[in-house]
Amino acid sequence: MDALIAQLQAALPAGTVMDGKAAAERLPGFAMGFGKRIGVPRAVLRPSSTAEVSQILRACHAAGQPLVPWGGCTGLVEGTYVEGGLALSLDRMNRIEEIDPASGTMTVEAGCILQTVGEAAEEAGYLFPLDLGARGTATIGGNISTNAGGNRVIRFGMMRDMVLGLEAVLADGTVMTSLNHLIKNNAGYDLKHLFIGSEGTLGVVTRAVLRLRSKPVSQNMAMLAVSEFASLPKLLRRLEKALGGTLSAFEVMWEEFYNLVTTPPALGQPPVPHGYPYYVMVEAMGGDQEADDARFEQALAAALEGGDIADAVIAKSQAERNKMWGLRDDVFQVVRLGPFFSFDVSLRIPQMESFVAEVRAGLKARWPDSQVVFFGHLGDGNLHVIPGVGDGSAETHHAVEEIIYGALRTRGGSVSAEHGIGLEKRAYLSWSRSAEEIALMKTLKRTLDPKNILNPGKVFEAG
Ligand code: ZN
Repeated sequence: MDALIAQLQAALPAGTVMDGKAAAERLPGFAMGFGKRIGVPRAVLRPSSTAEVSQILRACHAAGQPLVPWGGCTGLVEGTYVEGGLALSLDRMNRIEEIDPASGTMTVEAGCILQTVGEAAEEAGYLFPLDLGARGTATIGGNISTNAGGNRVIRFGMMRDMVLGLEAVLADGTVMTSLNHLIKNNAGYDLKHLFIGSEGTLGVVTRAVLRLRSKPVSQNMAMLAVSEFASLPKLLRRLEKALGGTLSAFEVMWEEFYNLVTTPPALGQPPVPHGYPYYVMVEAMGGDQEADDARFEQALAAALEGGDIADAVIAKSQAERNKMWGLRDDVFQVVRLGPFFSFDVSLRIPQMESFVAEVRAGLKARWPDSQVVFFGHLGDGNLHVIPGVGDGSAETHHAVEEIIYGALRTRGGSVSAEHGIGLEKRAYLSWSRSAEEIALMKTLKRTLDPKNILNPGKVFEAG
């Protein structure tokens, strides 16, 4: 590896090859806060153009040298883990190349920070709808490679739905430029989907054409208290109908999570009183402030009258709306549980209540002092489960996985809703995908990366 590093150092502009330890020290630690490993690479390659990415991959391919692509390293499944190996960071490829106001598209380099893209879209009078907790560090390339989800999937879909075209460099250095700007393009296979959500195992995304949405004029938010689980799906359907397609978030917090983020040392205040089993943060974004305000209030009044909700507080100002999102974003309060593990699962809404009960009972039976918080994007069938149990050891983690994924498997759920598989969930891929599905994934991997150099060992062992 050192000979190859020296070769690349000589061939590429000064500053492109960085010492791995120095690079690892600069990482912001979002993922590490959740106990996820990234590792210390031997070196980090920081190209500043697609041509340089291609040059690097050509050399690695020739030498059979594995390479781990890095975005913002905020992922939660150890998909960027690279102890002692070579990492490829696109952090210097962070330009917004073009915003086309007429067609509502933005062309960016993969190292662009998500928040920067959001702000640039807003300045141009548009909305780029992807939003998630790591927005200030996560990159568009990472968001594409992991098919990121986040807070507004119910309205705008996942990252896959926001990418019109992309450019990727294949394992052998071939540059596949497919910067499609068209919403409709059925000319053959839609190759971009090979690279969206494949976690850097089939190619390195270098540029993308993003689809922008019209910027909403109105934003309404409320925190709702709900007395029983059966009311949650009813409430969701009621709001979808009553709000005429403007519902943009339906975030459910189980009582323990709500209490955690609204009691000291958390800075958040409870908008509605403690004491209910479920809290729902709803957001609607529309095009007519006055009419949308009235419709939002009416919808909530009808839900109150219909018994779907027990209490409701509508945010009255931008500051109050920001505070509500702040509660949902304050996930790091889970450190108060002691050693914890984080899970990201999806299952059909009618099966959630029994799933939660089974997980709670399974954890309590094994660890009587354990605590567990549930919250998530219920409208998407996506739950985040964070158990605080025992000593945080690998053995405990494994035992907790068996309980949670076991309850999921019998219900046909997915071990990964939006975080991906990475290294962490690799052993459980077959609990959510069939043997035929996994065999086809491996066929694609062997075809596109015959020497297994791109993020090897992530998602599955190529074998
Ligand atoms: Zn999430």
